[in-house]
Amino acid sequence: MINISAKDVNFYYGSFHALKNITLDIERNTVTAFIGPSGCGKSTFLRLLNRMNDLIEGTRLSGEIRIDGEDIYGRDVEVVELRKKVGMVFQKPNPFPKTIYENVAYGLRVNGVRDRRLIDERVESSLKGAALWDEVKDKLKKSAFELSGGQQQRLCIARALAVRPSILLMDEPLSNLDAKLRESMRDELRALQKRLGITSLYVTHDQSEAMAISDKVVIMKDGVICQQGTPQEIYEQPASRFVANFIGKANFIDGIFKGRDGEAALVEIGGKTFSIPAPGKMEGVEVGGACCLTVRPESFLLTKDAGALPGTVSRATYYGAKIEYEVMLNEQPIIVEVYNPQLTERFSVGDTVTMSLIEGCVRVLK
Ligand code: ADP
Repeated sequence: MINISAKDVNFYYGSFHALKNITLDIERNTVTAFIGPSGCGKSTFLRLLNRMNDLIEGTRLSGEIRIDGEDIYGRDVEVVELRKKVGMVFQKPNPFPKTIYENVAYGLRVNGVRDRRLIDERVESSLKGAALWDEVKDKLKKSAFELSGGQQQRLCIARALAVRPSILLMDEPLSNLDAKLRESMRDELRALQKRLGITSLYVTHDQSEAMAISDKVVIMKDGVICQQGTPQEIYEQPASRFVANFIGKANFIDGIFKGRDGEAALVEIGGKTFSIPAPGKMEGVEVGGACCLTVRPESFLLTKDAGALPGTVSRATYYGAKIEYEVMLNEQPIIVEVYNPQLTERFSVGDTVTMSLIEGCVRVLK
């Protein structure tokens, strides 16, 4: 069931066109990660959903944003009511100058909850949800400013959770935490989101976080959505070189598209034609025109198969779980990762090898 829908959304800061034709649907009770280079418009989009940008002078919005079917920029919308439904956590912790307990209880009181037991329960469950309870349960009456930066951020997450918003906007909420805490918090947030049934929108610049936490990933660049899909779709079927490079690592091998052979694509590389199995959608690729094979480093098999791409090993680095080879294909270095190296033949610098493509793991792009 669709919870949030944006249609042809354009947004301007003065004359600066920050969001361009943003159209997307977000299903209820899912996590959507927004990822893209700094300044691409991720936070701007998030802030439109609880009308935070209303506070900025000289902005202009066109298009439509609906939450539960209601146009949130419609005439009758009360922003205070909207914000009860749409919570937000920012990158920098911003606790209120109150006690730890009161920070979490505050939203409940504003919403008119008076039952002390219910407030106690909600404070505890929210602090547990934000993985902070054990650290603060004996000092709930202390000022929030006595907590460390990481603890303050978890307090802000607990504060947002306490009022049980149906939508939670999170703008890089974990970026100030250390790596270990970040990983456990992200699992915690994921579990909590499922348990409470909150639709979460999550801005991050960490691609592994985006992949791990979300049902859907939206990749943006210069105010435009480049691709949206499940983490698997984005990783396995990147729609452009930009996406392939932004999420994970990729090799790009230039060639000329010669035509189809059943399900395979025939591509000329370095004067020889190769049959590329299951290349997926090949938008904009024309017979006789330039194309580019996009292949993840782990999507090659190093073999002696005569039909595969030939090369010479120029580097072999042993990492334990994998060996990373650099193989020169004509003049171009190709990165090949072989996992479980104990199961496969090993190669050394100078060896002649061939690189077969695992079926369905290559994209032919323009
Ligand atoms: P991201 O979250 O992807 O890093 P933002 O949404 O914060 O990007 O910003 C998108 C673009 O809008 C950037 O170029 C930024 O400089 C510009 N921008 C953001 N906030 C304002 C503002 N209040 N006034 C003018 N320009 C802004």
